[in-house]
Amino acid sequence: MRAVDIIIKKRDNQELTPEEIEFFIGGITSGEIPDYQAAAWAMAVLLNGMNDRETTDLTMAMAHSGEVLDLTGVVPIAVDKHSTGGVGDKTTLVVEPSVAACGLAVGKMSGRGLGFSGGTLDKIEAIPGYRTNLTREEFLHQLKTIGLVLTGQSIDLAPADGKLYALRDVTGTVNSIPLIASSVMSKKIAAGAQAILLDVKVGNGAFMETLADARQLAKLMVAIGRRVGRRVVALLSDMNQPLGCAVGNALETKEAIDTLHGGGPADFREHCLIVASHMLVLGGKASSLEVARQMAQTALDGGSAWTKFRTLVAAQGGDVHYIDNPDLLPSAPLIETVKAPRSGYLSGIHAREVGETAVELGAGRARKGDVIDLAVGIIIHQKVGNQIHQGDPLFTIHASSAQKFEEASTRLLAAHFWSDIACQPLPLIYEVIG
Ligand code: URA
Repeated sequence: MRAVDIIIKKRDNQELTPEEIEFFIGGITSGEIPDYQAAAWAMAVLLNGMNDRETTDLTMAMAHSGEVLDLTGVVPIAVDKHSTGGVGDKTTLVVEPSVAACGLAVGKMSGRGLGFSGGTLDKIEAIPGYRTNLTREEFLHQLKTIGLVLTGQSIDLAPADGKLYALRDVTGTVNSIPLIASSVMSKKIAAGAQAILLDVKVGNGAFMETLADARQLAKLMVAIGRRVGRRVVALLSDMNQPLGCAVGNALETKEAIDTLHGGGPADFREHCLIVASHMLVLGGKASSLEVARQMAQTALDGGSAWTKFRTLVAAQGGDVHYIDNPDLLPSAPLIETVKAPRSGYLSGIHAREVGETAVELGAGRARKGDVIDLAVGIIIHQKVGNQIHQGDPLFTIHASSAQKFEEASTRLLAAHFWSDIACQPLPLIYEVIG
C-alpha cells in the first residue's frame, strides 16, 4: 500500500477500506507518513467526508495507535468529559473538580487550542509548574489517590490523534464531522473512562455552526462510544457568543478560579452545573439531574470543588501560590476597556471573531508549535439580550502592544451587533442526546 494512493482515493471521493485506514493511521503514528501527506489526506476527508463505517474504523485505528487504558480495578467508575471546542470554554477547569469533589473519579486528557477555539492545556499551563505530561503510572496513581487527573496526550494514548490534531489546527482541516468525531472518541476510548459526557458546541463560534450538523456529530459520537461499551450522553450547547466573559488563557483560568469560589459569570456557572449534573448521573453518583445539580452546587458554593482543584494543581506540580493569588498569573502590559459606542440592546456577538481576535492577540497558534502568549485576551462585559447605555464597558482587551490593542478593538467592535428593540438572551442548551 502507498499513502499517495489512499490520498488520491479519498480525493476522488471513494470509500476507504478498514485496511487502508489502518495503514494510513499506522504511518502517521510511526512517522513513515510525513506531515504533508497527512495534511493532504485530512483535507481530502474534510472535502469529501467519510461514511459512518469509515469514521468508526478511523476512530478505532486512532484509539489503538497507542495504549488503551483499562481503569477497572483502579477506580470503581471513571467519568470523562469532552467539549468539541468553543470560545471562552473553560468548563473542564470547573466541572472536573466539582464532580471529583462529589466522589466520582475524573481522568481527562485535554488538548491545546485548535483554530479559533481555546484548549484546556494552554489554559492550565498559565499556572507555573503545572505538568501536562504525566506518565501512565502517574495518571493511574493520581486517579486512584485523589480521583482527579487533567493532563495532555503525553501517555502513549491515541498518539495518531495528537499528531493529526496539531496538523489540522494549522491546515484548515478542523471542521469535519468524521475528523472531529474520530479525534474526540479515539482519545476518550483510549483514556478508559466508562462514562463520557460530550459537550457538542453549536453556533458561530463552534466547528459545527448549525444544529443539524451538531446533532449529526453528536449522534455519531454517541453511537461509536456505545459500540465499545461506554455510557455516553451528548449535550448540544450554545456557542453563538463566548461562554462566560474571559477569552484567553490566563484570563480564563482566573475566571474558572472565581467560579470555583462560588462566583463567576452566571451563564458559565449555569453551564458548568448542567454539565456536572449529567456527569454525576452518568457515573451513577446521583439518581436524577435534580439531585446531581444540588450536589454540584454544594461543591461549588461549599468550597469542596475549589479544594479539589487546589489538590489537583499541587499533585501535578503547579505552584498553588498562583491560584491562591490569581493576580500573580501572567498579565499583559496593556489592559484597556472599550466603551459602548451607542445605546441599545445587544443582539449578537460573533464568537468566532472574538476567538480569532484572541488568536491574533497571541493567545493561539498560527503555525504548529508556535509559542503562545498566556497573558493576552479579551473580557467581554455584555451578553446577548443586555440593554446597554452608550459609554458602558463593552469589552476589555489585554494586549502586548498598542498596535495589537487597536487592531483587536476595531475587530471586536465590528463583532458586536445592536438592536433598538429588546432581544432575547441565548439559550445555553439546545438538546440532550443519548
Ligand atoms: N476536539 C477534539 O479533541 N478534536 C477535534 O477535532 C475537535 C475538538
